[in-house]
Amino acid sequence: MAGEAQEDCLFCKIVAKHIPATIVRETDTTVAFRDINPQAPTHVLVIPKVHYADAAELAAAEPAIAADVLREARSVADEDKLDSYRIVFNTGSGAGQTVWHTHAHVLGGRGLEWPPG
Ligand code: AMP
Ligand code: ZN
Repeated sequence: MAGEAQEDCLFCKIVAKHIPATIVRETDTTVAFRDINPQAPTHVLVIPKVHYADAAELAAAEPAIAADVLREARSVADEDKLDSYRIVFNTGSGAGQTVWHTHAHVLGGRGLEWPPG
C-alpha cells in the first residue's frame, strides 16, 4: 500500500538500513545518500522515508513531506557548497525512472547542459 514500506523496494531497504548506502543527511522524514552511479561530482538522492512511486503521488498524499524533500535537496547543495545545482524527479520509464520510490536527484559540481538528454 502507498506510504508503507514495500518489501521489494530498494529504497525502502536503504531507509530501513537493510542495505548499505553512503548517507549524507537524515531527518525524521527523509534520507539523502550518494548515488551509486554518480553523473556529476555531487549526485545525491533525497528520498522520503514513506513509500510513494513518484513525486506527484508523494505531493498529493503527503505535501509536507514533499516539501521536506525539497528543503533537504537544498541542504545537500549547501553542504557541498554548490552555487548552482539541478533537482530532478525522473517520472515514468520513458523519462528514465528505474526505482519506483520517490527520489530527487541533486546534481552539481560541474556545468549542466540544457535541455537535458
Ligand atoms: P532513476 O533512474 O531516476 O529511477 O534513479 C535511480 C537512481 O538510483 C540511479 O541514478 C541509480 O544509479 C541509483 N541507485 C540504484 N541503486 C542504488 C543504490 N543501491 N545506492 C545508491 N543509488 C542507487
Ligand atoms: Zn520504497
